[in-house]
Amino acid sequence: MDKIFTIMKKYLFSLFFVAPFVCWSQNYTKPEQTDKARFENQEFYEVKNYTKKKIKAQRPKNIIFLIGDGMGTSQVYAGLVANKGDLYICTMPVSGFSKTNSSDKFITDSAAGATAFSIGEKTYNGAIGVDKNGVPKQTILEMAEAKGLGTGLISTCAITHATPASFIAHQQNRGMQEEIAADFLKTDIDVFIGGGRKYFNQRKDGRDLLRELEAKDYDVIASIDSLRFSKGDKVAGLIAEEHPEPMILGRGDMLVRASRFGMDKLKKNKTGFFLMIEGSQIDWGGHDNNVPYITTEMLDFDKTIGEVLKFASKNGETLVVITADHETGGFAITGGHIEKGIVEGKFTTGGHTAVMVPVYAYGPKAELFSGIMENTDIFYKFKEALGW
Ligand SMILES: [Zn+2]
Repeated sequence: MDKIFTIMKKYLFSLFFVAPFVCWSQNYTKPEQTDKARFENQEFYEVKNYTKKKIKAQRPKNIIFLIGDGMGTSQVYAGLVANKGDLYICTMPVSGFSKTNSSDKFITDSAAGATAFSIGEKTYNGAIGVDKNGVPKQTILEMAEAKGLGTGLISTCAITHATPASFIAHQQNRGMQEEIAADFLKTDIDVFIGGGRKYFNQRKDGRDLLRELEAKDYDVIASIDSLRFSKGDKVAGLIAEEHPEPMILGRGDMLVRASRFGMDKLKKNKTGFFLMIEGSQIDWGGHDNNVPYITTEMLDFDKTIGEVLKFASKNGETLVVITADHETGGFAITGGHIEKGIVEGKFTTGGHTAVMVPVYAYGPKAELFSGIMENTDIFYKFKEALGW
């Protein structure tokens, strides 16, 4: 009997203490993928150099801020190799690096990372538009709105997710997505497009925020194809219940089209506009230790950058800044072939890393964004560029 008891104890021990560790380590090292992660690109696109055009304006009227979530230099280079040697990012005339650590952690999450850009202060991981003591702070988007500029947020995840949320909402924790959705109604943001529809209309408090948005004169749109029917000045594009699909599962050119739509809508504001566009799922490819996931998301983000640069070079008064909130995956490129568009990579983690991430700029006052900076500096450089 004693023997049976001992065996049972041993079994219970492995069940409770060893099994979770095995699951955890499988999640985070994924050996079967780290050894063989490979992407081969058949189709590549031609990169046009829109940034050759000389900029005459002294300062920008508009800011388009592009965030590649989890986009370190390896992610950028993976895109470059996959596109057989060139990216729109390569045509950006100014570059620098951003230090990403948060107020309470050496390694940031996307909430603290995006809030650093939006309020200019380091805050704790999980914070949405609040400082390190949890106090709400006016964001760059809210400042733009208060000064009469048009405003917009576009992302390839739920619009209530950490990165876009940090520009418009004020909540203690990124998990409070219904509260974040309700914060959209407290602003007059002109255009927002992404997923997260269920946080607006399937809520614990019973409110139907889609009806409330319509009452505030928003065109509420449920798919990217219906954007073209939108005639109003304000548009809420909630195109997925939760997140739009990854590129590898057929999301298509949603980000390119949404961004083009956002710029066309916002340029009608004579005072100018602030538009944030996020390539959200580069990060998820990193978490997944999945090279094709990263590379396809990176190429989608870069095509969007091309669309933005085309607009900015024609417009002449638009500052374009591209950066990341942090790197994801500890991704290293360990092999490949530029002419064939082959990328091979390995990962050191299933989480984020602490390395600096690249910053790129084009347009009036782009020169402010060279060198090594804190992520919080980007907020102050925006204000300086706009003369606020
Ligand atoms: Zn992440």
